Amino acid sequence: MPSPSISFDNTEIAFKALSNKELNRATLLFSLFNVEWLVALGSSFTERLLHLGIPIHVLVKPIVYSHFCGGEDLVECTMLIRELATRNVGVLLNYGVEAKSSDAEYEYSVLQNMQAIQLAGKEKNIKAVCIKLTGFGRVALFEKLQQKQGLNASEQIELNAINERFDRLCSAALENQVSIYIDAEESWIQQPIDDMTLERMKRVNTKSAIIYNTYQLYRNDKLKDLKADLEYAKKHGFYLGVKLVRGAYVEKENEFAKSAGKVSPIHISKAATDDDFNLALTFCLDHLDTIACCVASHNEYSCLLLTQLLQEKKIPFNHPHISVSQLYGMGDHITYNLSNSGINCNKYVPFGPVKEVIPYLIRRAQENGSVEGQMGREIKLLKIEKTRRGI
Ligand SMILES: Cc1cc2nc3c(=O)[nH]c(=O)nc-3n(C[C@H](O)[C@H](O)[C@H](O)COP(=O)(O)OP(=O)(O)OC[C@H]3O[C@@H](n4cnc5c(N)ncnc54)[C@H](O)[C@@H]3O)c2cc1C
Repeated sequence: MPSPSISFDNTEIAFKALSNKELNRATLLFSLFNVEWLVALGSSFTERLLHLGIPIHVLVKPIVYSHFCGGEDLVECTMLIRELATRNVGVLLNYGVEAKSSDAEYEYSVLQNMQAIQLAGKEKNIKAVCIKLTGFGRVALFEKLQQKQGLNASEQIELNAINERFDRLCSAALENQVSIYIDAEESWIQQPIDDMTLERMKRVNTKSAIIYNTYQLYRNDKLKDLKADLEYAKKHGFYLGVKLVRGAYVEKENEFAKSAGKVSPIHISKAATDDDFNLALTFCLDHLDTIACCVASHNEYSCLLLTQLLQEKKIPFNHPHISVSQLYGMGDHITYNLSNSGINCNKYVPFGPVKEVIPYLIRRAQENGSVEGQMGREIKLLKIEKTRRGI
């Protein structure tokens, strides 16, 4: 473990915002998520009820949704955004509705993101808007682009529409001086996302980092890509916006590679992913003149390493080119203890109608059950805080 002066053990700081009732709810929620068969059963049951049109939001909203989401629309999110501001924690807004399939739905997704950017222009505690480019066009088209297959006339029109939607949001982001973070997705569609994003960075990030791309360090080629992108940014004189993540689709990626008879692009072990993540973090800190970096992780070691490196390299904790982010509803011991030490910290806050955000919530539950150690750690910390409060 790195040996910085910061500890994540202070549960009083971590859970200060939670009432006793909310603390009990969170403990119950994470304890349920820790039971794998219950998560599997609950997920398929929820999907079934949704499919049948049964109004399950009445149950989901107060228990699960409100723990992980900001609100059904931007107005509902405002209270949370301001509350987090009082604790020096910023917000990364995300329209949490998953990929759709018609032009009207893509346009609706642009509209929601546009409104989030405009709100961020006024509410300065919104530090960025997180966007999935597959929310603006067909996944199959991204696949075709990745495979460098020629597009027919109607596909070219679709591609133009995706580019135009992305450009519209980039212009709004620049105009409102709000950052946009482009999510990383599956490896078989990631190349066009990288290309489109880097091209916009070159145009837009000339005075500051407005657009950020996401680097998944579970991929064995992404540290190399990060280094190449820095060279490209230096050559063309723009700021490289970098969001570092480990990556969310390990099983899916490995299964896909296996079924296609290909070698998986994912590192062969968690340790190898950790090594590359920490090397990427160190690399970013060594190039803060050109790189603006968001460390998006719940990993205690990497977050402590960040504080240790900042101290060693004599970089101020509140350097504007460094921030740390965790999902809203998780990793509070990291967010609030780091924020207390002066580091720029943000929570990733999804918003959208309960029914539409359910796939995001199901993924949270499934991922939490499978991400080694994370759930046990959340429960342990919540219990320590309950004991401290005597409840
Ligand atoms: C603010 C925020 C934004 C995010 N945005 C994105 C995004 O745009 N795209 C995206 O893909 N993910 C995104 N994620 C999710 C992220 O990629 C991780 O899945 C999640 O944060 C867990 O990783 P961790 O760093 O918190 O730490 P840990 O819990 O220490 O690491 C778990 C991660 O390690 C990796 N891993 C686990 N087992 C293995 C193995 N056997 N071999 C190789 N690697 C392994 C996986 O990436 C796994 O998710 C985001 C997370 C946050 C907090």
